[in-house]
Amino acid sequence: MKFQSIKGTKDILPHDIYKWRYIEEKVRSIFERFGYREIRTPIFEETALFRRSIGETTDIVGKEMYSFQPDPDSESLTLRPEMTASVIRAYLQHNLASQSALTKVYYIAELFRKERPQAGRQRQFWQFGCECIGSAEPEADAEIIALMMSIYQELGVPNTVLRLNSLGDAHTRKVYREVLREYLRPHYDRLDDVSKERFEKNPLRILDSKNPDLQELIAHAPRIIDYLDDASREHFQAVQDFLHDFGITFTIDHCLVRGLDYYSRTAFELQSPDLGAQNALGGGGRYDGLASLLGSEKPVPAVGFASGMERLIMTMEKYQLFSAAKPLAPTVMIVAQSESARRWAIGTAQLFRREGIATEVDILRRSMKSQLREANRLGAKYAVIAGEQEMQSGHFQLKNLMTGEQRALLLSEILEHIKVDK
Ligand code: AMP
Repeated sequence: MKFQSIKGTKDILPHDIYKWRYIEEKVRSIFERFGYREIRTPIFEETALFRRSIGETTDIVGKEMYSFQPDPDSESLTLRPEMTASVIRAYLQHNLASQSALTKVYYIAELFRKERPQAGRQRQFWQFGCECIGSAEPEADAEIIALMMSIYQELGVPNTVLRLNSLGDAHTRKVYREVLREYLRPHYDRLDDVSKERFEKNPLRILDSKNPDLQELIAHAPRIIDYLDDASREHFQAVQDFLHDFGITFTIDHCLVRGLDYYSRTAFELQSPDLGAQNALGGGGRYDGLASLLGSEKPVPAVGFASGMERLIMTMEKYQLFSAAKPLAPTVMIVAQSESARRWAIGTAQLFRREGIATEVDILRRSMKSQLREANRLGAKYAVIAGEQEMQSGHFQLKNLMTGEQRALLLSEILEHIKVDK
């Protein structure tokens, strides 16, 4: 029997890992530059946490969660389908509000959604993202958007489109839901099955539909921003003003509603036309009501975003943006030219490694020729070559594999040379 990875999951193999590490390091440094600190939460949580926060009418809760009951007496648990609920749960549980007025955290995490797998859509996938908890002010929204844009900009991703909308507060959405239903009702028969279902449960999501037959209907739908109260309208305007100040271009998208229920006011999405059907690189928004939904006595304003790793990698591969990211390579390969030098080579490799030098040595007892071939395949910068004569003289050949230059040196001199040039 041959085992295979589960549909919708992928192995990230050693020859590709440098791409992941390159992005992760960049992302971490940018988050930290903006004052965000890393948070890691458990991979599974109570199912009720996600039901409550993401919302019963969403696709995630309705059909995409990996839930299980570890034993008959325990509650249902779920592999996390997103991070915001977990972060807010941790924020409330550990009373992080008592430590500072503002909590700024980021994560790089794997998530699980039982979606139909296709290019850019997996069942286990990775997101990086952050949450800014404690500020209701538009500068928080603008900063989060600027942070997200910095990441794509510094990675060199071209062609992105930032879309922005405001969903107002809960009252606005309640009013607007009815307005939208009234608008759609005469066209109900034209709706597809998914939209018919959404018509009852969550009509805003109909605006999200990609069905080409519905685009015209959607384009003429009433706009939610026409129903914003004064405070939300001012907030939305201020977010836009800050983005102008930052030199960030965006388009207002009246149909941008985002899939999750807990958003309020600002919603945004970064799209890439290079991605095909699954064109969202990342998105986020404000979710001032979530903490209260999770039991907080005081409302806790918050805003955040999440971005997909796989889609970013696909885009970066397309534009060959990994040239600055080097696959990991050893600095040196210790090459034994004779049987008697093998033992010396193994010991010397240990010595070099203790000195902090990435060192390879042959443990397959291969010929010198294939040891050198291996050194080249691995991209080693140097080879230290030892044969009978070198063992006796104590002078070993240091060969620069990039230039071909070679000279005989004492081991201590070789170490010094490599350390300086590492
Ligand atoms: P969401 O949490 O649904 O707002 O998604 C935020 C980002 O995560 C999206 O823009 C995608 O880049 C990524 N993403 C969401 N779902 C998937 C998935 N099933 N597979 C791969 N990436 C995903």
